[in-house]
Formats: sequence, C-alpha cells, structure tokens
Amino acid sequence: MQRRKFIKDNLTGLPILLLTPSLLASSCNKEDDHEPNEKTVIVIGAGISGLAAAKKLKENGFNVTVLEAQDKIGGRLRTNRTLGVAFDEGASWIHGTSGNPITTLAQQAGMSTAFTDDESLVCYDITGVLRNNAVFNDAETEFEIILNSLKNSGGASQSFETVFNRLYPTKVNDRLWKFLLSTYITFDLGDLDKVSSTLYEEGEEFSGEERISTNGYDTIPNYLASGLNIQLNQRVSKIDYIDIKVKITHNGNVTEADYVIVTVPLGVLKSGKIQFVPNLPIAKQTAIQKVGMNCVNKFLLTWNTAFWDNKQYIYYTPEIKDKFNYFVNVKKFHPNVNALMTFAYANYARQTEAMTDAQIIGEIMLHLRDIYGNSIPNPTNMLRTQWQTNENSFGSYSFTQVGTEMQHFDDLAEEVYGKLFFAGEHTHIDYFSTAHGAYLSGIREADKIIAL
Ligand SMILES: Cc1cc2nc3c(=O)[nH]c(=O)nc-3n(C[C@H](O)[C@H](O)[C@H](O)COP(=O)(O)OP(=O)(O)OC[C@H]3O[C@@H](n4cnc5c(N)ncnc54)[C@H](O)[C@@H]3O)c2cc1C
Repeated sequence: MQRRKFIKDNLTGLPILLLTPSLLASSCNKEDDHEPNEKTVIVIGAGISGLAAAKKLKENGFNVTVLEAQDKIGGRLRTNRTLGVAFDEGASWIHGTSGNPITTLAQQAGMSTAFTDDESLVCYDITGVLRNNAVFNDAETEFEIILNSLKNSGGASQSFETVFNRLYPTKVNDRLWKFLLSTYITFDLGDLDKVSSTLYEEGEEFSGEERISTNGYDTIPNYLASGLNIQLNQRVSKIDYIDIKVKITHNGNVTEADYVIVTVPLGVLKSGKIQFVPNLPIAKQTAIQKVGMNCVNKFLLTWNTAFWDNKQYIYYTPEIKDKFNYFVNVKKFHPNVNALMTFAYANYARQTEAMTDAQIIGEIMLHLRDIYGNSIPNPTNMLRTQWQTNENSFGSYSFTQVGTEMQHFDDLAEEVYGKLFFAGEHTHIDYFSTAHGAYLSGIREADKIIAL
C-alpha cells in the first residue's frame, strides 16, 4: 500500500489522539471480568473484526458465538507456511506503527515484524535498463504533487483515469508513470477507470514505520480467538430480523440471538449470497453497491539461490500495467530464505485467477529475465492467491470508486433496529481497507452493544 506513505507525515500525531485509551486497552487480556448477562450475540465471520468484537463482548459478560464459513479463522489475515516461510496471503504490513492498535496486538499475540525500508529500492525499465535514482525520485516527487492537487480538477462522476489523462496526456503512455499509477493508486484502490477522481486520498494514516509480519499475521486472529466459542464450516445464508430475536440460517440450521454482528466482507454483501429479511434499509443497500471492492493477488516464489539485488524492493516498469511490477525481497527479513513476493492488481489480478501456475510463472519470469538475464532458473515453488473468486471475500478490500460518497462508509456501519450490527474494514470511514480499520470496527460495534 504505497499511496499511504505520501500523506502519512502530514498526519503525525492525529491518529494517536483519535485512539482513546479505552480503545487501546480493549485489546488487553481481561477475560470474564464482568458478570455474565443473558444476552446472546452471534458474530458472523471470524476475521479480525469479528474476533475483536466477540472477544470484547465475551469479556463484558455476553454469551457470544462466532459463525465462520471456512474451516479456519482469520479471514483476510491468513498465512500459508507450506514452503517453510510465513506467506501472508492477505495483510502483510502494519501500516504506520505509531498509535496503530495492531502494533499493540502484535506484541500481545507474539507476531514478530521487520522494518521495510521504502528507500531501499532499485528500479528497472524494460530490457533491464537501470533507472536513474534521481530521475525516479523526481518523478515520485512530481507524482506526490499531482496527487495533492488532482482532486481539485476532478468531478464526482469522473474517474481518476479520466482526469489524469486529460491533465497529463504526455505521461499516460510513459512506463515509469504507468508504474507509479499502478503501485501508488491501483494497488491501494482499484482500476484507474473506477477510482474516484475526488476521493482517492480519503482515509487516515498512522505515522511511524512500515513493518512487515515475519512469522505470520494469523498470529493475531489466533490470539483474539482464544477462549471464544467459534463454530467453523458454518455458512450463513439468511438473517431474519423481523422478530425480537434475530434468526440466523447457517447450513440449514436456524439459531436465534438478541444481537447479530455481520462482519462478512463487502464483496460477500455485494454478491447477495446472504438474504436479509426484511431487506436492508435503502441507504445500506446503496452503500453496498457504491463502495468499490478491489482485487490484489499475491505470489511468493522461492529459489535455491538468490540472483537479485540486495535491496528491499525491486521495481520493474513494463508496458502492461498492474502486472508483476513490484517485488518484495523476502531475503531482507528472512536471510536464509531465497524468495520474492510479487503482486497483480485490479483487472490484471482478476485475469491471473484463470491462469495456470505454469502460465503465471512464465509471465513473472519474463520480467525477471528481462532484468537479470536468461540464465536465471525457474523458481522451485510458487504460492498464489485468488481473492476475486474466493467466495468468502469476492475481492481484497474496499475503495472509493466513482459514485462512492464518504457517507456510504458510515451507512455500511449503521446498525439496523438496534439488533443488527455491521463491522469489517469496509465499515470504517477513516481506516477502511486495512487490518487496523477492521479491528477498530469490531471494537466499535461491541461497544455499541455494551452501551445498549
Ligand atoms: C491481498 C491483501 C493484502 C492486504 N494487505 C494489507 C496490509 O498489508 N496491511 C493492512 O493493514 N491490511 C491489509 N489488507 C486488508 C486486511 O487484510 C483486511 O482489511 C482485514 O483483514 C479485513 O478483516 P475483516 O474482519 O473486515 O474481514 P475478513 O478477514 O474477510 O473476515 C470476514 C470473515 O467472514 C467470513 N464469511 C464470509 N462469508 C460468510 C458467510 N456467509 N457466513 C459466515 N462467515 C462468512 C469469511 O470467511 C471471513 O473469515 C490486505 C488484504 C488483502 C486481501
């Protein structure tokens, strides 16, 4: 998530003020410190938002059950260790450690992290031509200035691409500018022809270091889940909130509860695979439709020996946008592991989901061989994600697309009839699309129920 570092410095201090001590304390372990009450809560989804809510409600005496569709918890915080190194298929980074609740949670959960230095990079053009540092830095600086001003020329019905192409026609086909747009906008948000030209910079940032998980982000959901009643393989298909008790249909069974917190991803809400009775309020239906859902896929490749630069990041500026143009050198934080992590964004990411492993390796190796020469070997192994076709998320994270209004994030968070509550990254107006936004949304909804 590259866009974030541009605006982070301007916000130093603010997020710390926004995070009240009670929010930070809410992640502390204080089990069963309230008298039990008779209220039952069902939390739908065992991602970080659902687990945070469930943990806090349980600590406050509620009778909480978490229903999770998959055979494991964590949602978009999940880690694949089959290659002997923790490959985070969803979130990898703590974006800004100062005041970020994930920093505290990571310490409590035992998630180790490493600093990823944004300045440690090398950038190659096609045919392996090394891009000049000064030219790259100047372009980045110019891009930052453009990002700060483009929204003033945008309109509610215009995409980022429409406005950028009108204002900067000479940059549209420039490979370096394609790269900057891809890694700073599309990675974070979505396809340029969908991203809002007025809201692309919305959202708050934490200051401090960017730190990457080294032993797996799933340590956090595993920590939050301790002691909770979680039922796996329970896919919720219907939520009937017409009567006093809410009735939840899952795998053909119906369970009743006083309160329900829906934490399924925006992509699942968009898919209509959960039926709400009665229909959700129009404002919420509109918000579900209007907020965008990006797709980012991640690929981990391993080799017996490393052939690449000893830098944290290896950038490549191909003709085709959003395609394997950004490599994270895993060896920097796992010295014994010869691995690179790369990405596909937005429409290209969706295309990769129909490709075979061999086709993907072929495409990635075209880029790496263009940089490092034809003699470099194919990887020994590859791991990949397919977030768009994943029925548990239908995409990676939410973003401000053309038609989105910031009010829509609050509409997504709005409770219905005082018994149907909504959490998840897409419900946090300040920190949507992040692990910390998801966590804070879960605490927020638990607090609402506790306050009733
Ligand atoms: C590729 C990628 C990279 C990312 N990188 C970062 C990063 O570096 N840093 C960062 O801060 N954030 C990052 N994020 C965002 C972060 O991972 C998410 O914002 C956060 O994990 C979302 O948590 P959540 O609780 O809202 O949703 P989820 O984790 O998706 O939890 C929702 C749960 O609901 C379950 N569910 C779905 N449908 C049903 C159903 N019908 N019945 C029952 N259960 C259901 C799902 O299985 C899932 O477990 C990334 C995400 C992705 C995908």
